Amino acid sequence: MRAYPAAILKILLPAALICTAYIGRAYLGWLDGEARVIFDNLPYLLCLVAILVAYQFNRSRILMASCAVAIFYWAVQHYLQVSLSQPGALRGYLAISLALPVLTLFLLVLPERGIWNLYGLIYVLAFVFLGLICVQVGPWLPEANEAAAVYYSPRPTGNHILSTGATLLGAVVTLLGIVLLYIRDDEIEAAILGASLSLYLVLALLHVDHISAAMCTAAALCLLWGLLLSSHAMAYRDELTGLPGRRALNEKLKMLGGHFAIAMLDVDHFKRFNDTYGHDVGDEVLRLVASRLRRVGGGGTAYRYGGEEFCVVFPRKVVEDTVDPIEQVRKEIGAYIMSLRDRNLRPVRTREGTRKRGATRLGGDQFSVTVSAGIAARSAEHTDTDAVLAAADKKLYQAKKGGRNRVAF
Ligand code: GH3
Ligand code: MG
Ligand code: MG
Repeated sequence: MRAYPAAILKILLPAALICTAYIGRAYLGWLDGEARVIFDNLPYLLCLVAILVAYQFNRSRILMASCAVAIFYWAVQHYLQVSLSQPGALRGYLAISLALPVLTLFLLVLPERGIWNLYGLIYVLAFVFLGLICVQVGPWLPEANEAAAVYYSPRPTGNHILSTGATLLGAVVTLLGIVLLYIRDDEIEAAILGASLSLYLVLALLHVDHISAAMCTAAALCLLWGLLLSSHAMAYRDELTGLPGRRALNEKLKMLGGHFAIAMLDVDHFKRFNDTYGHDVGDEVLRLVASRLRRVGGGGTAYRYGGEEFCVVFPRKVVEDTVDPIEQVRKEIGAYIMSLRDRNLRPVRTREGTRKRGATRLGGDQFSVTVSAGIAARSAEHTDTDAVLAAADKKLYQAKKGGRNRVAF
């Protein structure tokens, strides 16, 4: 299983939005007249924008989440503006307290499949069906028996009025969301988590003035932020390897200053490798090479240049600074033994000091790959990025001619 510890940081912006909304809510009392009307309707407006953008980007989970936030806000405005001691308000509160974690869980675990297809239709129907079940079951929970009453009754006199059961359920779903974020590295999960936490705060702090308008605004902004980030990732990140792709490289090259070095890397005999083991295993190898390259030292950033070619950019570096980090990557990849039995191609042991050629079958179902690299830096001879790239490519060709599994500079 692959893991992306840095993906957890994606929750930081939603968290900042939630904190800002919570602090900003205190000043809403100062607004009056039209400003107040606009602010009270802001969650609807932002949800509508999120729905339209999600529709345009074919993102079913954000579409459903945006509809749910709008309905949540409407329900809070229409049913929960009175004391929870009133039976109607209490029933509504209990229904929403159950629906929130259940629907959040549904949206978190669902793989994205787009809107206008059979999956999209099934997802929407399942989402509505689950919501309706929660509306039926939620109000009944505290009445089930005495123990459930203690567990699921809200506490309208405390500072945190959400019931213990709903709070725990929310905490478990949030933890699961963080784990999913860790293993999938998907900004949509961070956005859904952020929106869900915002709505929890509404339920937990329902007695606080202006909490619903402020937090539903934060929830809709989280969803919009997730949409923007995922469309950015679609354009700039290579889907197979997770590395930034060619477009991101071109942007980076435009921003480089007067000194930089570039390394071009290419998997040796990769065509032969694909022919022997199949395209799927080839893809797995590209992911593996990328995962090593992502950790390249020396201040370099790795990009997938295209096919089985990668590029590492070292800003403010000369060639000599970059040889060691690239050599290190080359050695690590060459020493990595992969096993066909395990489709995740985990290492079974590392092999030191044995020189093997690319795509080498080691007997049984084990094999290894090697890479060659060429490095060049900006100089009087190569003054622009295209010339440096061409020079690095030329060096790569030399490395190939020299026997592969080596770095030329
Ligand atoms: P050399 O050592 O000279 O680099 O030989 P090579 O076989 O690696 O070079 P060549 O450029 O002829 O072959 C590259 C192959 O990479 C062709 C194609 O089958 C494979 N390839 C390109 N992109 C992908 C990809 O995304 N996935 C997989 N599995 N294979 C790819
Ligand atoms: Mg090639
Ligand atoms: Mg190659």
